[in-house]
Amino acid sequence: MTDTILEVKNFSLDLRTEAGDLPVLSDINFYIKRGEFLSLVGESGCGKSVCALSITKLLPKKLAVYKSGEVLFNGTNLLEESSATIQKIRGNDISYIFQEPFSSLNPLHRIQDQMIEGFIAHNKGSKIQAIEKARYLLGRVGITDIDERLKSYPNQMSGGMLQRISIAMALMCDPILLVADEPTSAIDVTIQSQLIELLFELKREMNLSVLFISHDIALVSYLSDRINVMYAGCMVESGNVEQVIDQPKHPYTQALLKAYPSIKDDNQDLEPIPGMVPSPSDYPKGCHFTDRCVKAMDECRLSKPKLQITDASHEVSCFLYGGQNAGN
Ligand code: SF4
Repeated sequence: MTDTILEVKNFSLDLRTEAGDLPVLSDINFYIKRGEFLSLVGESGCGKSVCALSITKLLPKKLAVYKSGEVLFNGTNLLEESSATIQKIRGNDISYIFQEPFSSLNPLHRIQDQMIEGFIAHNKGSKIQAIEKARYLLGRVGITDIDERLKSYPNQMSGGMLQRISIAMALMCDPILLVADEPTSAIDVTIQSQLIELLFELKREMNLSVLFISHDIALVSYLSDRINVMYAGCMVESGNVEQVIDQPKHPYTQALLKAYPSIKDDNQDLEPIPGMVPSPSDYPKGCHFTDRCVKAMDECRLSKPKLQITDASHEVSCFLYGGQNAGN
């Protein structure tokens, strides 16, 4: 796959706690091609954000224990690179939009200073060029009164406006990959769809690859080229939209689809998924979904199923599909 820009292979990560190391990501595999929109979905606590942060080693060093696997960005394994090299990539080739713009922007600095900082730090051009680019991008994301906004502080603007600014800021260095971690979930619902459409337009216009993190499987169904479903630190299903949304195989994906309002069916009766996502200290032996799965069998409690291809490029980890054992 020559146009693959990010490939995560057999990646496992623990978080160091006072109670010991907890397995938060287990044997994660996924890839993104240039210009592709890939969504990672699952309930809160499934490991999506940890996964997104760990690909550029954004987790605090004293907490993250990189156990195994590779994170290949344009063929380079980021897990083996020095902090200095990763810093050159982060905010430059790979940039992030976070959930809460009020906390991702510094309240003590004007928008202009925050927007041009990365551009200058990554030697993309002069201060004048940085300000020109900031002006252009603010216009592109629909900000008016640009000169006034550049002089403003974050607390002088609404959440929707700040998230537009965060999107513009993330594009300052012309990234190859944009990681958007629940970028609309802290925003007023009336603004959410505008922001989503904007992201989608920018992705198409700039041939950006997007890794989009969301708990809302219905929302991602109309945005994504492919969808990966995560549950309790594991990737449980992966495929294109038709495969995952129209023909879901994993019982967790099926349950998620019943729990969120469908964009195709206004009369859908919602069915909450019983129970909670277990914490990494309480993952059951075998399949992590066992305690909530209506189709659980005895073998599900003995070992974990492996993610494997069932048809075309549709991958599922479940013993219902003759899953191979991935260990405990
Ligand atoms: Fe359910 Fe078993 Fe499949 Fe896990 S492996 S999702 S418990 S049927």
